Amino acid sequence: MTQTLTLRRPDDWHLHLRDDAMLQAVLPETTRHFARAIIMPNLVPPVVTMADAQSYKARIKAAMPQGSRFTPLMTLYLTENTEADDLAAAYSSGLISAVKLYPAGATTNSASGVANFDKVRPVLERMAEIGCPLLVHGEVTDHDIDIFDREAVFIDRVLDPIRRATPALKVVMEHITTKDGADYVRANPERLGATITVQHLMLDRNHMLVGGMRPHYYCLPILKRREHREALLSAATSGDKRFFLGTDSAPHATHAKESECCSAGCFTAPVALACLAQTFDDAGALDRLEGFASLNGPGFYGLPPNEDSITLTKSESPANLPKQVENGSDPITVFDPGSPVYWSVT
Ligand SMILES: [Zn+2]
Repeated sequence: MTQTLTLRRPDDWHLHLRDDAMLQAVLPETTRHFARAIIMPNLVPPVVTMADAQSYKARIKAAMPQGSRFTPLMTLYLTENTEADDLAAAYSSGLISAVKLYPAGATTNSASGVANFDKVRPVLERMAEIGCPLLVHGEVTDHDIDIFDREAVFIDRVLDPIRRATPALKVVMEHITTKDGADYVRANPERLGATITVQHLMLDRNHMLVGGMRPHYYCLPILKRREHREALLSAATSGDKRFFLGTDSAPHATHAKESECCSAGCFTAPVALACLAQTFDDAGALDRLEGFASLNGPGFYGLPPNEDSITLTKSESPANLPKQVENGSDPITVFDPGSPVYWSVT
């Protein structure tokens, strides 16, 4: 017996598309299922100015599959040298939808990120004035802070002070991974939302580390202990409109993942919706999936939900999900949750 589920077409509120050949290889994996995505700016060099965003958007448009109606929602990478006027012009023209804050050194290509938060205070004030959301990679990068504690410490030391100093600023905590993150959103209803990835809803650090280390589960912020995954799952399936899907799908060539020093990121785009449907089904919350994947994000960003829909089907035997996406001599391994997924997009 098959079961079907039709949803308004989802959006991805946190996505890495990379550039050049990698962009060509991975873009169709997102445009097939998603109508819009917030495009992360951490290229090398990063997308820091309005001109950078214009040219990156043109490269994405040029790489789109024929007939695709996908809309890339561009972002700028906040640096200590970001010019408020350039940012404001990019936002008011509709070119960018948000600005991304990476603490210096937090993740892949984040060396240009912010080290001294006082230096960006005037830019944050301007963003609050014009309504431009700040998307934060919420981890401190201090060497003395344990990698599993970096999100909680970021909330106390960086995020909460920023929000107190600039209370009108709209903030999205990207890819929250802890109960602390979910609790902070719940306790601060004003102008605050959070994205959650598929892998953080399905996996905890045991999946990554017990019985051998699995590089394709290594991402940043890193998978946490089970109680944190349970807190994220309960936030995602709660119906609370401030939590929404951001896959953080982050492709790296398989050889860069299966190496002595593995790159951080899970490439989930091709299977994100199938995995998400399975996760919500297992939690008895399929009726909340549309809110999380298709309604809450546009609601937070002040955009209309998509008009068209997608249909997912649940089969009696596990779905045959893609394992790899070709990219010349650098194929990319697709995320595999390691447990059966009976849902697929039809
Ligand atoms: Zn990311």
